[in-house]
Amino acid sequence: MAGETILIADDNRQIRMLVTASLRTGGYVLIEAENGEIALEKAIANHPDLVLLDVTMPKLDGFEVLHFLHKRPDTADVKVVMLTTASTKEDIQTGYSEGAVDYLVKPFEPARLREAVDKALHG
Ligand SMILES: [Mg+2]
Repeated sequence: MAGETILIADDNRQIRMLVTASLRTGGYVLIEAENGEIALEKAIANHPDLVLLDVTMPKLDGFEVLHFLHKRPDTADVKVVMLTTASTKEDIQTGYSEGAVDYLVKPFEPARLREAVDKALHG
């Protein structure tokens, strides 16, 4: 389905560009956030269908963003896929226990990202 909104939250501009390029053909509306605080603000303001969420970011880290999103009634249903270098067993457990639907470890394959996004959005 075209026109779904995806928020790309990563403090690394190059990663945001790579993700954007990888998803360009999907017909999505892509929004970017360069830190956790802006990610939370944009998620609340835009209610995206999906958030691709880095962990290591200034202001708020991705796990804090995930936690706040799922605590707020107006954003509790926003789907989140973690996209991060934080890849210990504990990190991955935290992501899933806070409600992430998938957990991708950087560096990522564009095709794998597109697949994960499609799966998160459409099951
Ligand atoms: Mg980061």
